[in-house]
Amino acid sequence: PFDPALAAGRAGKIKVATIGLCGCWGCTLSLLDLDERLLPLMSKITITRSSITDVKRITERCVVGFVEGGVANEENIETLEHFRENCDVLISVGACAVWGGVPAMRNVVPLSECLDLAYVNSLTSVPGVRPTIPLHPDIPRITTKVYPCHEVVKMDYFIPGCPPDGDAIYKVLDDLVHGRPFDLPISINRYD
Ligand code: SF4
Repeated sequence: PFDPALAAGRAGKIKVATIGLCGCWGCTLSLLDLDERLLPLMSKITITRSSITDVKRITERCVVGFVEGGVANEENIETLEHFRENCDVLISVGACAVWGGVPAMRNVVPLSECLDLAYVNSLTSVPGVRPTIPLHPDIPRITTKVYPCHEVVKMDYFIPGCPPDGDAIYKVLDDLVHGRPFDLPISINRYD
């Protein structure tokens, strides 16, 4: 079993990475709501990858990986699998990562209808211009459904909410880096 205290001793500082998949970045902003509480934590952790750069790969193994957003295209799958391979503890942050969230609303409609409504018979279609569904090797192929992260790889912990409160993210991170059992009191555990 994962021992954060052991991991901290082994690595000196606990390496933490965050990634955004199919979400709105609101959960990432909640991470920033840690505000000045990040400063004492920085003596214990090193953030090796964050959404500031949006680089999809991490170059060194991390102890903790926070994942925002669900899985809606093939690039999301590759990125999530890469994080699973390179993080000891992987945490779903927010409704989109936990169960698909708002993007999963498209799951009740066939993908072809979604694409048709978005690109062909869109309210913003320009009269006289023949609309097309974008298709290019550089555009990730979207999946037929939006998946929660745990349906693609094993996730270790879940922080619900849309977005989760910054207090909840802080509590989880603080527990982990200090080797305490993961504990999220109901007072900061949101499901909205
Ligand atoms: Fe945005 Fe809410 Fe999804 Fe977080 S859970 S990425 S805040 S829609």
